[in-house]
Amino acid sequence: MCQSSNKHIPLTGLPKDEVLSQLNQFSETDVDFKKGRIWSLVYYLGEEHDQFLKEAYSTYFSQNGLNPLAFRSLKKMESEVIRMTANLLNGDQDVCGTMTSGGTESCLLAVKTYRDYAHPSIKKPEIILSSSAHVAFDKAAHYFNIKPVRIPLDQDYRMNTQLVKKKINRNTICIIASAPSYPHGIIDSITALGEIAQKHRVPLHVDACLGGYLLPFVERLGYPIPKFDFRVPGVTSISADIHKYGYAAKGASVLLYRNIDYLQSQFFISEDWPGGVFASPTLLGTRSGGAFAAAWAVLHYLGEQGYLEKAQDIMQTTQKIQKGITAIQGLELVGEPMMSVFAFTSNDKKVNIYAVADRLELRGWHIDRQHKPECLHGMVMPSHKQIADQYLTDLKQSVAEVRANPSYSYQNGAAMYGMISRVPLRHMVKKQILMMYKQLYGAHTIFPDEQSMSIEKTTKQKSGLLNKVTPLLLKAFLNHTKNKRR
Ligand SMILES: *Cc1c(COP(=O)(O)O)cnc(C)c1O
Repeated sequence: MCQSSNKHIPLTGLPKDEVLSQLNQFSETDVDFKKGRIWSLVYYLGEEHDQFLKEAYSTYFSQNGLNPLAFRSLKKMESEVIRMTANLLNGDQDVCGTMTSGGTESCLLAVKTYRDYAHPSIKKPEIILSSSAHVAFDKAAHYFNIKPVRIPLDQDYRMNTQLVKKKINRNTICIIASAPSYPHGIIDSITALGEIAQKHRVPLHVDACLGGYLLPFVERLGYPIPKFDFRVPGVTSISADIHKYGYAAKGASVLLYRNIDYLQSQFFISEDWPGGVFASPTLLGTRSGGAFAAAWAVLHYLGEQGYLEKAQDIMQTTQKIQKGITAIQGLELVGEPMMSVFAFTSNDKKVNIYAVADRLELRGWHIDRQHKPECLHGMVMPSHKQIADQYLTDLKQSVAEVRANPSYSYQNGAAMYGMISRVPLRHMVKKQILMMYKQLYGAHTIFPDEQSMSIEKTTKQKSGLLNKVTPLLLKAFLNHTKNKRR
């Protein structure tokens, strides 16, 4: 499939049609998300919805949300999205916030806000979060020089609240909970955490990036959902990704605070810069007007009724798939997921779950593997309704094949993931991934294929173990990208 790559800006511009046709060709090698054989990355509602989002987006395509006074239209949209989301999450009149470019920006900002909100005597700030809280908080800790204190999960895969109490100290700037967590789809005990947070006077951020626009509707449909939003005393902020289950265009998330006392610590103002007095509400400078417009538009277009209908479809399909999984001998869910996100694992020594993933990928599914515990990830969209039966059939066959062929557990992805889930090999993974990234982003490769990502190039170390892992890692990585190109 190797296509020639363009290395120079063409001397004279090419015809519009030719450029667009090239663009379209590139996507031929991508994962085919429109058929729904994927359980992450895209929240696709179909061509009609996409077309609507594109129209809304392009209406404010050139506008910039950096300066709220220049484009009042965007500030109005932002304020309305914030207000509607605050109401959805049961915030009172004081709840306020900003739109951001995505969940990661919301998570980064929440941590930065609480660092600056904390008493200036705190010189070594710490955040307390569960081991399953989103990795974006590690990124935040890494960027902002904050110590992440990861709390193990309890037997229900929730953050262990007893340990939270023990770990709070005078350096704690906030507690972070998930509603639900990305890896297992489990909602932390937000009410208990709210009590702890209030008692110790530390802020509590609820990462509802996944659940913010879905849980309220699932609750209205009558499913048992523990309270996770501003109804819980002690919750001081919530992040909710409107570009996930809000079905907006990518590049939009919402970050809400209980009141302006918290939000004001988020703002950045510089009065000395030669470019003039500069103020910025969020992490980015230029903010895409299109993302604001599409987010505003989708709330109005779908309405509560639309969100409820999607939630109904999603939950029915989720329950069907979960029932189907647990009916397959050797498989079980990880904990008791309450929304549309879940993980499942093997409880049978003869069924290596990573080998099951390999077999599913051979059948054209794009599978996300997780570790600790070793499991596969699922995230249901309305479109999965049509392919749930096919998925369960393929899953059942895959499990049977793995059971009948022990060697599958020592091949391909299964071998690689089996190895990296074991210490000390895990420590080497970081090095290996760094090398892979250096190849991916280095000056000489546009997109690596098996030749350009030669194993020799990446293994200068003498370690025998490393030499074993590297080829497997590369192979699994390349298999992965190949699967994506189906
Ligand atoms: C997706 C997600 C994030 C990060 O959001 P991005 O939009 O991918 O940057 C953070 N927290 C949770 C729970 C998520 O699911």
